[in-house]
Order: sequence, then structure tokens, then C-alpha cells
Amino acid sequence: MNFFKKLFSSGKKATKDHEKSEIDVNDLSQKKEANYLEKDTINVIKKEPKLEKKSDSEPKTEKKKSFFKKLLVKTNQNNLDKSLEKTSNSFFEKIKKAVVGKKKVDIEVLDNLEEILITSDVGVKTTIKIIDAIESRVAKEKYTNPQELDIILKEEIGNIIFDEINEDLNVNDKPYVILVVGVNGVGKTTSIGKLAKFFKTQGLSVIIGAADTFRAAAVEQLDEWAKRAEVDIIKQQMGSDPASVSYDALKSAINNNKDVVIIDTAGRLHNKINLMNELSKISRVLQKLKINAPNEILLVLDGSTGQNAFEQAKQFSEATKVTSMMVTKLDGTAKGGVVIGISDQLNIPIKFIGTGESIDDIEIFDKKVFVESFFQNKII
Ligand code: GDP
Ligand code: GDP
Ligand code: MG
Repeated sequence: MNFFKKLFSSGKKATKDHEKSEIDVNDLSQKKEANYLEKDTINVIKKEPKLEKKSDSEPKTEKKKSFFKKLLVKTNQNNLDKSLEKTSNSFFEKIKKAVVGKKKVDIEVLDNLEEILITSDVGVKTTIKIIDAIESRVAKEKYTNPQELDIILKEEIGNIIFDEINEDLNVNDKPYVILVVGVNGVGKTTSIGKLAKFFKTQGLSVIIGAADTFRAAAVEQLDEWAKRAEVDIIKQQMGSDPASVSYDALKSAINNNKDVVIIDTAGRLHNKINLMNELSKISRVLQKLKINAPNEILLVLDGSTGQNAFEQAKQFSEATKVTSMMVTKLDGTAKGGVVIGISDQLNIPIKFIGTGESIDDIEIFDKKVFVESFFQNKII
């Protein structure tokens, strides 16, 4: 069956080279320790030469076009601005203090800036990159007004994190299986509810699998989200085998012709081997039904934990083949700078962000829009 849906555009050139993305994906997978999965299909548009057997009455290209248009979604800048208010305010308060009374960007300003970036959870390596870039820029330009430091910073952060990797999320394979991983409490279950509603709003049919069978309340909680999102859920009793629930969920998706399967898991990172074993077992069992399942391993990170989130991203990506990330709880935290460090340091795209506890508090992640929101304040 020919199934391809483009869910959103990150606002970049439409003429992206998909071959390039495929290479990126390969490079990434070669770096992984546990490369037990089939090559993921995200960002890779499969052209199936095979023609569908029936229906000469359906004008196929036309159908595909209208379908495409319907699914373009953009980040809501206002919502993001609101979520990043604390991060941005706190950052700019410090910057303003650092440049007050200053006539030029000197060593002292740069030292302060370095400290500000680090205490804003940008991370040491990314901070050093930013400072180096600003230093050489200040050296080149004759006169750099400290009052314009925000403009320079915004440009240099942009230079560091923007890339040409195609970040569009494509659901190009049906049923599209998303395995959701992450440590306890980061917001996996909540995010699954949000994602289910998001996909549904995109005209896709969704089924969720309650494979976090570890905690008593986990299944009930997911059940509640399934009701809110008005999607089907596959569950078993607490303590049952997560792989078995995953199998049932995918089986049901296939039987009922669903577009997307989202599987909740228990987050147990304290033991890497256990985590790897559990996820590879789930994958192996899913692959009995669909050879390239899961299509995606989505890592959920709690943005309000700052550098902890960064560390988790590193550890998870070493232990499993994480293909995308969602950063939650960016509302009400001043630690949103961590997103800059994650975007710079890890080769895994952030696809979504969580901006609150309600079902619609989800935004598509777009680096440009994020940087705009981060710099919503001005020095003058
Ligand atoms: P899980 O253990 O990873 O499944 O996490 P849960 O989905 O149970 O969420 C843990 C807590 O984080 C809950 O109280 C959620 O309401 C809260 N939460 C999840 N996402 C967000 C978010 O984007 N913003 C805020 N403020 N809270 C969130
Ligand atoms: P284990 O070694 O008994 O844990 O079993 P597997 O690793 O083969 O699969 C784990 C679980 O997935 C099983 O207990 C089943 O619930 C489910 N499962 C795996 N393969 C199949 C299958 O071919 N048919 C069905 N119905 N369930 C399966
Ligand atoms: Mg949960």
C-alpha cells in the first residue's frame, strides 16, 4: 500500500535533498552501540515503484496533493514565547547586568557571558563554541556595542545550531510505530496523549499501547489520555509483558487499518542493560508483525531538569537507537537553554516540545522559531 504523509514543515526549503537525510540517518546508526533495529524510515521518503492494482477511477496525484496540504503544521510562536518567557527573562536579566556601563565587548563581558550561558543550561561545550564565535567576531569588527550583544548572540547561536538536515516528520509507512522511552516522570504518558490528539487532528487514526506495565497507575493514566484524545488503547493488566502488549497493539493496528501506533514504556534507565534488553525484546516482537518496526524511538526529556535532561539524552542515545526527541515542561522553567545544547551536541532531532499539562500543550519544534522565542527580550 502506498502510504505517505508529511506531517509538518519546519519552514525550511521545500527542495530538501532526501538522499542527504538518508546518509545522515546511516551515519547516526553506525555510531550506536546497540544497533539492533532496522534502519529507521523517518525523513526518508520511500518511493514505491509498485503500482496499486485497482481503481482506475481514482485520480491518485490529486488525492495525494490535497492530503499533503492538509497536514502542514507550524509552531505557534505566541505559545512558544509564553512557554519560554521564564527562560528568556532570566537570561536577559543576567545579560543586561553584564553589559551595564560597558562601552565595548571586552574580556570581562565575554567571561560573564560564558558564565551566563553555562548557568542557563546551554552546556559547557556549546557555550565554548558560542564564546569562541563571538570572540573572533568581536576581534574582526572594529566596534562592537555591548548593547547589541543580543543581536550577535542570536546570530551566533543560530549559526551553531541551524543545519541543513531535513527535520520534517514524515509518516511514510503504515502503521507507523512510535516507541516512547525516557526515565520516570519526564512526561512520557502525558506526551503520548498529546501526540495521539496531534496525529488525530492531522487526520490520522491512532492506537496507543500501554506497555508501561510496571506501575499500578500507569495503565489507568494512559487510559485517561486515550479517552481525552478519543483514540483506541490496547492494555493488559499490571505486570504483564511489555512486549506482549506492544505485539497486541501493533496487531490491532494492522487489523483495524490504523495509521499510527504509539507505545508507552516504563522508564528504567538505572540499568542500561535492562533497558536495552527490554527495548530490544519489544522491537524483536514487533518485528514479527512488521519488519521495520518500530519506525521511531522517541525519547522524552524533562526540560526543567536542565543538564540532567542533556545527560539522559546522551545516555539513552548510547543505549538505544533513539531517532527523535520531545522536550517537555519548557513552561515554568528558566532552564530552556538546554534545548540549545541538545540541538548542538546530539545528532538526534528534537521533533516536539511540551508546553503545559493539557492535551493541546504541544508544539512542533523548529530551531528558528525556538531561537526567536529565546530572544524575545531585548537588551535595549
Ligand atoms: P512519565 O512518568 O514519563 O509517563 O510522566 P507523566 O506523563 O506521568 O508526567 C509526569 C508529570 O509531568 C505530570 O504531572 C504531568 O502533568 C507533567 N508534565 C508532562 N508534560 C508536561 C509539560 O509539558 N509541562 C508541564 N508543566 N508539565 C508536564
Ligand atoms: P517470551 O520469551 O515468552 O517472553 O516471548 P517472546 O519474546 O517471543 O514474546 C513476548 C510476548 O509477545 C509473548 O508472551 C506474546 O504475548 C507476544 N508474542 C510474541 N510473538 C507472538 C506471536 O507470534 N503471536 C502472539 N499472539 N503473541 C506473540
Ligand atoms: Mg508514564
